[in-house]
Amino acid sequence: MRYSTLKIIVTLLLSSYSIYTQAQEDIYKKIDPVYVFETTNDSIDMASNFYSFYDSLSVYFEEDTLYSTFDNEIIHYPKVDFSKKTDTTLIFLTDASKNSFFVNPNNGEITSRFGLRHRRYHYGTDINLETGDSVVSAFDGRVRVTKLSRSYGYLIVIRHLNGLESLYAHLSQINVVNDQLVKAGELIGLGGNTGRSRGSHLHFEIRYLGAPINPEDIINFEKRELISDKLYLTAYYFRYQKEIEKLKEARFHKIKSGESLGTIARKYHTSINSLRKLNHLKKSSLIRAGAKIRVR
Ligand SMILES: [Zn+2]
Repeated sequence: MRYSTLKIIVTLLLSSYSIYTQAQEDIYKKIDPVYVFETTNDSIDMASNFYSFYDSLSVYFEEDTLYSTFDNEIIHYPKVDFSKKTDTTLIFLTDASKNSFFVNPNNGEITSRFGLRHRRYHYGTDINLETGDSVVSAFDGRVRVTKLSRSYGYLIVIRHLNGLESLYAHLSQINVVNDQLVKAGELIGLGGNTGRSRGSHLHFEIRYLGAPINPEDIINFEKRELISDKLYLTAYYFRYQKEIEKLKEARFHKIKSGESLGTIARKYHTSINSLRKLNHLKKSSLIRAGAKIRVR
């Protein structure tokens, strides 16, 4: 083999190896969370204003009596059942004396709401964003969980001064570490499409003692502000739990050929109307053999 031919082969091998390692690095970039503190000028200004605030925040968390644990692994604090709650708990969402306010986590439009989604329950509000867009903490608090979850992707859970916890999922980057104190409006991560997600968006949850609250019950996302600075927490905020109970009792029927809504309704001692309601069927909708229909 002539020297020049050998040289060409070696060059080709080397360049394909560098393409290969470049591809490896790209994959690595995609799956590895980067715990770096990228701060914009705004957040530097903001952070310098709040150094003293961080001190009072840490005092608060030392004295926290609402939650018994501060776990860095469990995503959801064990859920308390509030569906039969008879009293009212007053929660001050903001506290001017502590310079503690609300900042919208991301200003994108809502693409999916809290509530029933097919046969599963969606415990958050989905906000449209581009991968790499800023996601900020909604309230002052302390980072409880930062991890990669199969369903949530890269996620952050923050426990707040006001007793709530917020969750930010499908991120492309996490910019905070566990136990870090954060100010409302502080950059905590970048939006993305990780985990079980179709298209870049932020899945945002609010929980109180582990129990989900519809974020739209307390935040007006269009106006980017709280509906009220005070939250009078009653069973009303957990009314969705009845819907979930009903869902557990749901029964489905596989339609056989020759069956009509009338024959199915008779079989399950229900009415054509309630079958239509349960299955979101219009009067003009046709049913076909082999499909499943909810009967209860
Ligand atoms: Zn979601």
